[in-house]
Amino acid sequence: MIKPGSVEEILNTAKIEDIVGEYVTLKRRGVNMIGNCPFHNEKTPSFTVSPTKNIYKCFGCGKGGNSAQFLMEHESYSFPEALRHIAGRYNIEIEETVTSRESIEERQMLDSLFIVNQYARDFYQKQLFETDEGKSVGLSYFKDRGFLEETIRKFGLGYAPGEGKLFCKTATAAGHKDSSLKKLGLSTSYGKDFFRERVMFTIHNLSGKVIGFGGRILKKDVKAPKYINSPETEVYNKSRVLYGAYFAKKSIRQNDECIMVEGYTDVISLHQAGIENVVASSGTSLTVEQIQLVKRNTPNMKIIYDGDTAGVKAALRGLDLVLEQDMNVKVVLLPEGEDPDSYLQKLGAADFKEYIDKEAKDFILFKTNLLMEEAAGDPVKKAAMIKDLVASIARIPDPIKRSLYIKECSHLVKVEEEILVDAANKVFKKTFKQEQKNKERFRSDSQRQGGDGGGRPGDNQEDNSASAIPKKEAVQGNEFQEKDIVRLLITSGGEIFDEESKTTVAAFIVSNIEEVLDDFDNKQYERIVRECMQMLNDGKKIEQKHFINHWDDEMAQLAITLLHDEFEYSTNWKDMWEVELQTQPMPEQNYVKDSISSINAFKMRKIDKTMAKNQERIKTAQEEKDDVKMMKYLRIQQKLLAIRSELAKAGNTVILK
Ligand SMILES: [Zn+2]
Repeated sequence: MIKPGSVEEILNTAKIEDIVGEYVTLKRRGVNMIGNCPFHNEKTPSFTVSPTKNIYKCFGCGKGGNSAQFLMEHESYSFPEALRHIAGRYNIEIEETVTSRESIEERQMLDSLFIVNQYARDFYQKQLFETDEGKSVGLSYFKDRGFLEETIRKFGLGYAPGEGKLFCKTATAAGHKDSSLKKLGLSTSYGKDFFRERVMFTIHNLSGKVIGFGGRILKKDVKAPKYINSPETEVYNKSRVLYGAYFAKKSIRQNDECIMVEGYTDVISLHQAGIENVVASSGTSLTVEQIQLVKRNTPNMKIIYDGDTAGVKAALRGLDLVLEQDMNVKVVLLPEGEDPDSYLQKLGAADFKEYIDKEAKDFILFKTNLLMEEAAGDPVKKAAMIKDLVASIARIPDPIKRSLYIKECSHLVKVEEEILVDAANKVFKKTFKQEQKNKERFRSDSQRQGGDGGGRPGDNQEDNSASAIPKKEAVQGNEFQEKDIVRLLITSGGEIFDEESKTTVAAFIVSNIEEVLDDFDNKQYERIVRECMQMLNDGKKIEQKHFINHWDDEMAQLAITLLHDEFEYSTNWKDMWEVELQTQPMPEQNYVKDSISSINAFKMRKIDKTMAKNQERIKTAQEEKDDVKMMKYLRIQQKLLAIRSELAKAGNTVILK
């Protein structure tokens, strides 16, 4: 584990504009920088980077966070991977603590697996380029396919020789453990090489590390399967890997589209021809994880199928998953007997590209046409087909898209729209109910496990029901002042409020609202105020980054959302006084004025509430003809009124929102 001190140093050193700038072209706008969001498709930039706050936030899709979170989102890194990336960039030495012996051993074990895999890749490559067998069998095969040496090296292609133990012998002589070779599936349980007489394809993870291999046999007369692959290991989870993703991810984002093919050689050929946004599911049907991997970079997917209809129909069944993930899926069917590799050789890159753009058909409509052909003249088949189709459409999360498809399909299959709508709604309701059930089960499970969250004892129940981030529209009237107070605490809590006494903004706010804290309507906001109180008691400085980098993701997201609102404020403000932008202090520097007015507004609301309650008491006392009580409550009411007008006066002279 990376030491907390080290984590802090890394996060503090990281400049958000540097980290994001590696991937996004940023332009300065006032104190912030803007660019096109890498997480969603947009033409006018709404992706904002704030160098002073050291965070990014997108108005369009709502994604936001610090440098580490950006890398986790963008590069699919884990938190430690993101930290290591940043540390590498700024030459920060990472201090690691080891919590237990197992975790050192686990880390070392994983590292050693990557090292062994890398060793294997180098071995196979050496065989390919430097041995007679490798050159005559392997290299000539790749050259026949038109692969250039540069491409062969880039994709880590190689050759596994026919001699049954050569790899194992060489690897163990080089100091690699027998057990590692077995674990990675590079050797069989009898100690023989697993890959023999095969051309080798290296499989990389998203950061380019070698996680496994695919081997293709070239001899025709043997009974062995044409392709064999590394087994699932600690470093290779097949359902989460797309072949070529490491080389394709940048191009997928640039083109805002992912092309999906079936084979390794298809990926490599297209890539070499300059079509780089290509990945392969390597033979298996697509998994949800693989689709999500694509979705992180683009919602648009084009799937290329070889031109045999039987295979396509089987493949289409798995595609409903893609619809569920709300991806725009197009299907391209190649002419009979062609695969992407062969067809590309035939047409050349430019014409191939034109072909797939022209022939790309919407998935649902493609499926409809295909099923129609099959069911022609057979009413029973047609009924089954409609059911199948409706089941696909019902999986589309977007209701507008759903109804458009229904319209189109009713036209294509010549069935009245209402019938399709009814059928789709039935399926939709059924899945919706199932989902609700799953959610409920999940909720009650997590409530049962509630005690391990590490928060204040006894508040877990509330935290669960208060649901993660208060959505923008959910913040209205009553919560507004609370939100403003919390925003001030986070953005300017550590600033000096009063020069003479060195009181901080946080100390001023907390001391003023302590007694009414229980009245907070929003429990999440209350949590932040309480945490600030605790920090003040502990003599800690209240800093924005404490909340942005909060260990509890809910708190971190809430902080970022609050900062986001401030961005909007600055934007409006800037639009109104564009010219004065250079000379005016930014809103975040108005914390003294803002603290007073926020506290006033907050107190005003509490007093209004108390007065309303008191008014009720007066009424009851009147009804009960209890003069003593009535007089008492009337006096209280007068006092409240006096405080209220005091506050209003202060509000008027300072500022009232
Ligand atoms: Zn976005």
